[in-house]
Amino acid sequence: MTALSTAERDAIATLSDAAMLAQVQDWAAINSGTRNLPGIAAVAGKLGDAFAALPGQVELVEPTAVTSVGVDGTVSDLAHGRHFHLTVRADAPVQMLFTGHMDTVYPVDHPFQALTFRADGALNGPGVADMKGGLAVMLAALSAVEASPLAGRIGYEVVINSDEETGSFSSAALLARAARGKVAALTYEPALPDGTLAGARGGTGNFSIVVTGRSAHAGRNPEEGRNAIVAAADIALRLSRLRGPGLAVNPARIEGGGPNNVVPELAILRVNFRPATQAEIARAQAAIDAVVAAVAAEHDVDVQVHGSFNRPPKPVDPGAEKLFELVRAAGADLGLAIAWRATGGVCDGNNIAACGVPVVDTMGPRGGAIHSSDEFLLVDSLAERAALSTLTMLRIAAKGTL
Ligand SMILES: [Zn+2]
Repeated sequence: MTALSTAERDAIATLSDAAMLAQVQDWAAINSGTRNLPGIAAVAGKLGDAFAALPGQVELVEPTAVTSVGVDGTVSDLAHGRHFHLTVRADAPVQMLFTGHMDTVYPVDHPFQALTFRADGALNGPGVADMKGGLAVMLAALSAVEASPLAGRIGYEVVINSDEETGSFSSAALLARAARGKVAALTYEPALPDGTLAGARGGTGNFSIVVTGRSAHAGRNPEEGRNAIVAAADIALRLSRLRGPGLAVNPARIEGGGPNNVVPELAILRVNFRPATQAEIARAQAAIDAVVAAVAAEHDVDVQVHGSFNRPPKPVDPGAEKLFELVRAAGADLGLAIAWRATGGVCDGNNIAACGVPVVDTMGPRGGAIHSSDEFLLVDSLAERAALSTLTMLRIAAKGTL
């Protein structure tokens, strides 16, 4: 570690796995599935207490209104928890953004709720890697920076949203606001077990397409009916033909219909798109509009499209390249080999990159099997990754640029 300055060495000297592990155990013991609003509020309260160690003002931001389409085709409001937002030294010369999420994919009635240590020392539990471990790493790194003589040079916003696992629909506006004017962003999704980071990410879009036809007796007057299931199936087939090297299309489900002797009046098609580029989003959006108009006309049905491309693709552009290089160099000075590779997953890093802010979105601890009952956190990576973050932040603060 001879490449580290004295200030850098001092900043990382106090980082310990044990302190962060205690926080992870405390936070992960509370179920905070996205829909468990009391659990989300409880974790937000814990985060408020822990992040009070930093200067600045914490606020809990009301979620933006989000609607969902039910199995009966009706559109209703979907409640979300409040989002954690901290602003520190808004007038400092270097401004960064740090983000994470407090929600997990495990609902309150999911069988996977308990924390256990594996024989190899890894911690198995809901959200330990994704991403309560990441939140502990972020806080430890920021605390180390605050104790450093360089702290006055850097200001930042921290956003910890409550709805990342369902697409950040109620926090996207807050993320975009917080990204504005930032030199770079770090997001605390877990690194792969071997320490590899996520580089380029594709985007995603989720749609619910509600088809309303006309019911009729299947035997007596079927010609008077307008079959919503057939029209929805036609939309699914046409959309699936858009598939190409830069666009995956997955018609996932058709709901609706009814008894065998009734021409079905209602169908809801759920479809997911995975565009690799903005151009593919534009192509898909234009095609959705054209397919919907054509099917509505040919089948004489009403078609309403709900949803959006909520996660834009995240290419590794020149700005992101510089940030990755800075993280890689910091890792090398800590004796860590840091590599990155493209992934099919999406996260808030997609939204931040779409704001033109360079982001590395897997600054959390090493872990794996996320979104499953085998999710694990490699405990001895907590201090390691906090040191990586601290060094990255200090160097950006010192340099003032990437
Ligand atoms: Zn996550």
